[in-house]
Amino acid sequence: MSKGADIELIDVTKRYGAALAVESVSLKIPAGTYCCLLGPSGCGKTTTLRMMAGHESITEGDIRLGNTVVTDLPPARRGTAMMFQSYALFPHLDTVDNVAFSLKMKGVDKASRRAKAMEMLKLVHMDHLAERRPAQLSGGQQQRVALARALITDPQVLLLDEPLSALDPFLKIKVRQELKKLQLQLGISFIHVTHSQEEAMALSDLVVVMNGGRIEQAGTPREVFNRPATAFVARFMGDHNVIAGRVTAIGDDDMTFEVPGGASFRAPRAPQSGLEPGEPVEIAVRTDRVTLGAGAMPGCGLTGLVQNIEYHGQKVQVALNAPGVAEFAVQVPETAFFAAPLSVGDAVPLAWTPQDVHILKASPAA
Ligand code: ADP
Ligand code: MG
Repeated sequence: MSKGADIELIDVTKRYGAALAVESVSLKIPAGTYCCLLGPSGCGKTTTLRMMAGHESITEGDIRLGNTVVTDLPPARRGTAMMFQSYALFPHLDTVDNVAFSLKMKGVDKASRRAKAMEMLKLVHMDHLAERRPAQLSGGQQQRVALARALITDPQVLLLDEPLSALDPFLKIKVRQELKKLQLQLGISFIHVTHSQEEAMALSDLVVVMNGGRIEQAGTPREVFNRPATAFVARFMGDHNVIAGRVTAIGDDDMTFEVPGGASFRAPRAPQSGLEPGEPVEIAVRTDRVTLGAGAMPGCGLTGLVQNIEYHGQKVQVALNAPGVAEFAVQVPETAFFAAPLSVGDAVPLAWTPQDVHILKASPAA
């Protein structure tokens, strides 16, 4: 059962002087959602999160938590809590007092606030280290203390800014699983900022891909990966080839697409796209949906020149280029690759079925 409250951003804009950090962002995150704000450095993730927390003023628009407009409320009165990228623990306080700090500020008596702090430390499996100071804790342990400290206020929504960025790769995956478990256990929304698409896909119910202060796409990990809205999303999520070309003909249920090098192939007709013959369009094809070499399906007409081969274990990644297509990658299952190995310099036919062609829209940030 989900607890907490829905959070909604209504046409939110943030300007720093003349610079636009966040532009007209509208987003609804239902209660009980694990949501990741995903995008490259500087795209406005932290600013968006800080506006939700009340640590940053909003230039235009509103933020609503449940039935309350919280736009002008101070952080402590919003029902949100934030865990910072640097854990921001007080070095001179032990673990319990760090966790109990916000209750002390609220005037809660010592026995009650320490009891509540111990309860939070149990939740994050840190009660056995309650007397240590931050310097006596590992990075992963400090991270849990910071988490307990954010949760002690019983927030409706927990905001986390790159909470895994300081951890080594193995710990990252372990703590990631713990965060997800904790979110399910508490039932409130976690809103987690990350620049890692892998992290976002592993954790999220809802992935919000940002670029240049705008939302490019919001959806489940599967929607965002399989049906990227824009070329930016397809490239950022990875494992897609983005090809720019032109529509040459539109049939009843398919259309023909031509790349600048002259090769053409069929794609499903996208009636909602309103495309007309002659118009430029970008498409995406997943790198694991391309067939290489003899026996490839006819009707594609693109031949690639192998530029690089990387062995990735279960898969072999083959990089190619073709006339009018600068960069093209194909993931071949290991067994299939070694049944018909390729070398750099080989020319190979490329093919995919029309169903594997996904038509992209123009980016809102463009
Ligand atoms: P992200 O967290 O996605 O890396 P930020 O939200 O931190 O991005 O930043 C978004 C944009 O706003 C960037 O261009 C950044 O330089 C700018 N910015 C962030 N904070 C400030 C600030 N306090 N003053 C001026 N510009 C800022
Ligand atoms: Mg940031």
